[in-house]
Amino acid sequence: MEIKVVKRIMEANEQHAEVVRRRLRESGVVALNLISAPGSGKTSLIEAAIREMKGRVRIGVIEGDPDTTRDAERIARLDVPVVQINTEGGCHLEATMVLRALEEIEVDNLQLLFIENVGNLVCPVVFDLGETYRVAVVSAAEGHDKPAKYPALFRTAQVTVLNKIDLMPYLDFDEEQFTSDVHRLNPQMPILRVSCRTGEGVSEWTEWLLQRL
Ligand code: MG
Repeated sequence: MEIKVVKRIMEANEQHAEVVRRRLRESGVVALNLISAPGSGKTSLIEAAIREMKGRVRIGVIEGDPDTTRDAERIARLDVPVVQINTEGGCHLEATMVLRALEEIEVDNLQLLFIENVGNLVCPVVFDLGETYRVAVVSAAEGHDKPAKYPALFRTAQVTVLNKIDLMPYLDFDEEQFTSDVHRLNPQMPILRVSCRTGEGVSEWTEWLLQRL
């Protein structure tokens, strides 16, 4: 019985994701679904990209969090359209939430849409949001074992961002292991090394984004 319920939820999500995909295509918008653990720097990566590309690219942001509007407030300070989705404890975004947010954010006026998922390496992976690209974000402080432990994210993402590389000297982060685990799961996946704090790698991150437009 329970299995049937889960199946229905997933089927409904797939249908909504298709509507999102169509809506994005009609508006000519590239949407990125950022997935990571809490505190890996998703919001900082979005802020860094906005700072670099503002004036050149029309950017919007959908923020997903269980509670608070803190991330949306950070983005709003950069003067780009932003919509906060509070999942009220829910551990992931679903396509139907994004669909509603698309109307609020006036998607027709955008070129690039960031969707910051709820911080979680498991549940968001299962829910297609209709995004154009999926971005896996890992901070060096979380350890090099994340791709091996959470393979589904790295199998389904198109790019991995390794953030907080400025902390490497203080960590036992085995980057060789990290890279080989990522490429075992997804041989072609680019790994972008970034520090939002020092700005290292930010131009490579924005270059990757610009090439998607
Ligand atoms: Mg955030």
